[in-house]
Amino acid sequence: MSQQGYVATPPYSQAQPGMGGYPAGFGSAPTSPPTAMGHPPMGPHSSQMAHPQSPLAGPTMAGPQSMGGPPPMGGMGRPFPGPPPPGAGGFQQPGPGAAGPPGHPQQLQGTDSTVTWSSTVAITKLYGFVGPFSMSQIKPIPGIKVCFQSRDRINLGPCIWELTVELKLIDCTAKCVLANRIAPGTGYQSLTLWNCLCVTGQFGGQMAGPGMAGPGMAGPGMAGPFQGGAAQMAGPPQKKLDPDSIPSTTQVIEDDQAKRGGQVYTTNLRGQVPPLVTTDYTVQDQGNASPRFMRCTTYSFPCTADLAKQCQVPLATIIKPFATVPKNETPMYVVNHGETGPIRCNRCKAYMCPYMQFTDGGRRYQCGFCNCVNEVPAFYFQHLDHMGKRVDFYERPELSLGSYEFAATLDYCKNNKPASPPAYIFMIDVSYANIKSGLVRLVCDELKTLLDNLPREDGAESSMVKVGFVTYNKILHFYNVKSALAQPQMMVVSDTAEMFVPLLDGFLVNFQESRAVINNLLDQIPDMFADTNESETVFAPVIQAGVEALKAAECSGKLFIFHSSIPTAEAPGKLKNRDDKKLINTEKEKTLFQPQKAVYEQLSKDCVSQGCSVDLFLFPSQYVDIATMGDVATHTGGSVFKYSNFQVERDGQHFLSDLRKDVEKAIGFDAIMRVRTSTGFRATDFFGAIHMNNTTDVEMAAVDCDKAVTVEFKHDDTLSEETGALMQCALLYTTISGQRRLRIHNLSLNCSAQLSELYKSCETDALINFFAKSAYRAMLNQPLKTVKEILVNQAAHMLACYRKNCASPSAASQLILPDAMKVFPVYLNSLLKTGPLVGSAELSTDDRAHQRLSTTAMGVEDTQLLLYPRLIPLHNMDVASDVVPTPVRCSEERLTDAGMFLLENGCSLFLWLGQACPPEMIQSIFNVPSLAHVSIDLRSLPELDNPQSQKLRSIVDSLLDQRPSSMKLMIVKQKDRSEIMFRQHLVEDKGLHGGASYMDFLCYVHREIRQVLT
Ligand SMILES: [Zn+2]
Repeated sequence: MSQQGYVATPPYSQAQPGMGGYPAGFGSAPTSPPTAMGHPPMGPHSSQMAHPQSPLAGPTMAGPQSMGGPPPMGGMGRPFPGPPPPGAGGFQQPGPGAAGPPGHPQQLQGTDSTVTWSSTVAITKLYGFVGPFSMSQIKPIPGIKVCFQSRDRINLGPCIWELTVELKLIDCTAKCVLANRIAPGTGYQSLTLWNCLCVTGQFGGQMAGPGMAGPGMAGPGMAGPFQGGAAQMAGPPQKKLDPDSIPSTTQVIEDDQAKRGGQVYTTNLRGQVPPLVTTDYTVQDQGNASPRFMRCTTYSFPCTADLAKQCQVPLATIIKPFATVPKNETPMYVVNHGETGPIRCNRCKAYMCPYMQFTDGGRRYQCGFCNCVNEVPAFYFQHLDHMGKRVDFYERPELSLGSYEFAATLDYCKNNKPASPPAYIFMIDVSYANIKSGLVRLVCDELKTLLDNLPREDGAESSMVKVGFVTYNKILHFYNVKSALAQPQMMVVSDTAEMFVPLLDGFLVNFQESRAVINNLLDQIPDMFADTNESETVFAPVIQAGVEALKAAECSGKLFIFHSSIPTAEAPGKLKNRDDKKLINTEKEKTLFQPQKAVYEQLSKDCVSQGCSVDLFLFPSQYVDIATMGDVATHTGGSVFKYSNFQVERDGQHFLSDLRKDVEKAIGFDAIMRVRTSTGFRATDFFGAIHMNNTTDVEMAAVDCDKAVTVEFKHDDTLSEETGALMQCALLYTTISGQRRLRIHNLSLNCSAQLSELYKSCETDALINFFAKSAYRAMLNQPLKTVKEILVNQAAHMLACYRKNCASPSAASQLILPDAMKVFPVYLNSLLKTGPLVGSAELSTDDRAHQRLSTTAMGVEDTQLLLYPRLIPLHNMDVASDVVPTPVRCSEERLTDAGMFLLENGCSLFLWLGQACPPEMIQSIFNVPSLAHVSIDLRSLPELDNPQSQKLRSIVDSLLDQRPSSMKLMIVKQKDRSEIMFRQHLVEDKGLHGGASYMDFLCYVHREIRQVLT
C-alpha cells in the first residue's frame, strides 16, 4: 500500500499553477527524460517563436488525500484540467472533483512548456513559451551552464512549443542573475524563468497560502507575470519567491487545532497518535498514559530491527512524569495496598497495570511485559466477568488507567526508614557584584513573601518543606533561625576545602514557625554585607555545604543558588576563564562545552545520592563557564537561569517571576525511574537532567513538572503486530510532604511489518525533541560539523526510505515527504541554526552552553516552541475577542512596515514594531506620540485603560503564564540594532550566524535524499 504525504516537485522544478505548467513528470516519469548534459541537440525550433503566447495552465499538483481532509483553499490539490483557450492570458479555474485517487500524486494532463531538470549542484527550471533566443544568449551567464537537452514539439495551441532545457547551476548565487538577465533582458515576455529561489508553486495540496488561494488563481502576485509579462520578471527576484508553497508549520498547527482542538482525547486505543502539543485538547485516561506524560516519535514500531535500521526513524518516548494536568482532567489516583505494597510481576517486576491478563477464574495473571504467569495474591483476588475482565475493573485505577500512583512501603525507602519532607536551602552570593546590583536586597525582600507559597500537598493547610539560609563569598555563613531565637545567629565556615555544616538544630526550619526570625534575617542580610569589597567567590563548596546539610537532616531537597561570577577563590572547584573563540569551528570546539570534571562530577554524584537538586540563578557580567557551573544542576533535575548584566530596575521582575515559578512548582524528590518494556525491545539511551549509575536506572535528585526524560528504544528481538509494544515507566520518589510513592505511566504502541504504518504514526514534534537532545549530547564528543552531517544524513535516510518503500513511484525531481513529517525539515533546519550548533564567534560561549544544557531537560512542548517560535501579528487583532491572533510563519517576509508582532520561543519574548507603525497604535500601547518615543528598555507594557493595551497585555500575560520560565520582554524596532536579536528567531530565513533558509535547506535535503536513493 503506497501512501503519499507531502508531495512536491521542489521549488527548483516547480511551477506556479497557470503560469506555464508543471513538469510532466509529477507523479510519473517525465515525458522528456533528461539526457546527459553537454550534448545539446540544437535545432531550428528554438529560434522560431516570434509570438510568445500566454501560458497554459496545467499543473499537476495533486493533494494527496492521505493528508486528510479536502484542500483548504480553492485550487489546491486539484489538477488543472488542461490548457485554456489559446490566447487566454489568465489563470485557469481548478476543475472540481478532478482530484486523483487517494494517496497518489496526480499526473498532469496537457502540460504546456516544461522543463525537467537534473543537476548535481542545484537545479533550476526554465519554462514558458520561448521566443527566438539562442544558446548564446544563455550560455555566458556566470555560474550557469545551460544545455539544450531535448526539444519536443507539442501542439498545445497555435505556435507553442515545448522546450526542454537542462541548466546546470554552478553557483547558487547566480540564479537571480539568470532570472533577471534572460527574461527581461531579452524582452520575451512569455519566457519565464524560475529557479530554486524564485519559484512559486504549490506543493502538497495543503499548503495553500495567500498567493495561491482562490478560484481563478488570481491571488496577488499570481496574475501578474503572464498578464504583465516582463514587468514581473524585471522585478526583484525575491518577489517571485512564494514561501507559501513549502510546508508550513503554522498551517499544520492550525489544521490540527481545527481538526482535534477542543475535543476529548481518550486513551483507550493502542498506537493512537495524539493531537499535536500545540493543540488545545482534553485527555481522558482510559488505559494509556496521557500524551502530556508520554509522547512518542512514532506510535507504530517496526516489527524487526532490520526495518528499524532501514528507516532510521528513532524510536523514542519523551516522558514528563510530573507534567501539569489541566484542572478539567482527572488528577492522579493513589492506590494503597497497605503493608503488602504494589503488586508486581515476579519475574520482570513490572507493576500491576491494564496490560496484565487475568486468567484461571481470576486466580492468575499473565504479565504483558515478560509473559510470566503470576498468582494473584489472596487479598487481591476478584472474579472475572463473562468477558474475562475483573469485576472490579473500573474501581481500580491500576487496572483501568494508564497513569496512577502506588503508596510505597518501607521497602522502597532509603535504609528502610520513612522519608522526610524535603528542604529548600537558599544560598546567596553576597560578593561585591550582587550587593552592588541590588540583587541581594531583591532576593531577601522577595523571600519574605515567597516562602508562604512553598509547594504543599493538595488540601494541606501549609507546606511541610523546611527552609534554610546560607550566604557566601569566599567563605560561607550559615544561619540559625530556630523559632525560639530572638535574633538569627550566624556561623562562619572559612575552611572551604573540608566543608561541614556548623549547626544542625535551627538550620532547617519550618517557615511558619520561624517566620519572625527569618524575616529578621532577611532584613539584615543586605545591610550586613553592604560595605563588602569581596569580589571573589567559591562555588563547589556551596553545593557541598547544601548536600551536607541535607545529609545531616536526612532529607532530600533543593538548593537555590544566586551567584554572580566565575568562582576564582582558592577552593575546590575553582575555575579559570577557558573561553577561547579560536576553538570555534575546530576539532577542539567541543571542549568549550565539556565541563571541568573531577570536583563537579563527584558533587553531582553526592547530590544525586542525597536527593539534592540544584537550581542555579546566575547573574554574570562576563564569562562564567556555564558548561561547568551548570553541570551539577543539569545532573540533578535542576535548572540554570541566566541574567546577564543584571539590573534590578530592568531585569528584576523577570528574575522574580522565574524564582516564584521555580519555588512554587510541583516537584518530586530523590527519584529513580525505570522504563520496562514488553519483549522484543528495550530502553537503551536516556537524555535529561539525570544521572545514571547503571544502564537501566534513571536517577533524578528531583523531577519537576517541566522536566522530561527522552528515552530511546532498540530492538532485541522481533515484535509482534498482535501484542504490540508496551512500555511502563515507574518513578519512585518522595512527595513534597515526605511520602514515598510510585508513579506509574503505561503506554501501548502498535507494531507493524509495514513501514508505511510507522511513517503514518510519526510525531514530528517528538522526533525533533529527540534529535535536539541527541545532537546536543553528541557535540560533547564530536566536531559540530560531524554532528550536523549526521543529523542531515539521518533525516535524508528517513525520508528516502519513505520514498522508496511507501510512496508511489515518481520522478526523482519530486520531493516527497510523509504527511506526518512534512514540517520536519523546517524544525531540523532550525535546530542546525541554534546557538549550540551554529559555531559562530559572535555568540557567547556561555549562551551556547546554557541553551545546550536547558534543552537537555525539555519536553516536547518546549522544544517545539524553541525551534519554531510563535510570531503573532498584533496590528489587526480583534480587541473584542479573547483569542490570541493566529501566528504567521517565522520569516521576515511576514513582517509589514506598518505592523506590530509578538515573537515568543519559550525563552525570549519580543515585541517588534514596524517603522510605519501607526502613531495611534503606538499611543494606545505605549502612551507616547510616536515610534521614536518608545524606549527599547521597557521590560513591561504600561497599563493603559484602552482596549488595545488591555488586549495586548492579556496576550503577553497568557503567554508568560503558559511557559515554564518567565520570558523577558524586549521591545524591538524595525531596522534598529536591537532587531538582530529578534531576527535570529525567524527560523525560516537564512541564519544570521550561518545556516540556510528553509527553502534552501529543503533543496539541500532533497539532494541528499536523491543521493541516498541512488
Ligand atoms: Zn513480567
